[in-house]
Amino acid sequence: MTITGSCHCGKNAFSIEGEIPTELTRCTCSFCSKRGALLAYYQPGQFHATAQANADAIYRWNTKLVAHHFCSECGCATYTDSPAFEQDGNWDKVTRRIGVNARLFDNFDAATAPVTVIDGKNLW
Ligand SMILES: [Zn+2]
Repeated sequence: MTITGSCHCGKNAFSIEGEIPTELTRCTCSFCSKRGALLAYYQPGQFHATAQANADAIYRWNTKLVAHHFCSECGCATYTDSPAFEQDGNWDKVTRRIGVNARLFDNFDAATAPVTVIDGKNLW
């Protein structure tokens, strides 16, 4: 299926070739707990984002390896482009993973979807 979504003002939009995961992911790290996104993970090739000029802003913190994208107009968290870390924290320095904020999906209520919590507060 093709999943579509956009930020509140519409200057950032995306499409995904894939399925909505059976469980979304909520992270407890200091940033994610404030940001409030519920993430659905995809491979970069599945995800296509479009943004109007200067509407795609990026926040990086700590290691700077993770690009947290958000809309510079309306402030919605759009997606996170991160290394595809293994469970043990290793990374092949190549493979990336896209965590899309499922709250932005069209015709989908992320607030009622099952959620897996990852313990980012203690993992990084
Ligand atoms: Zn926006």
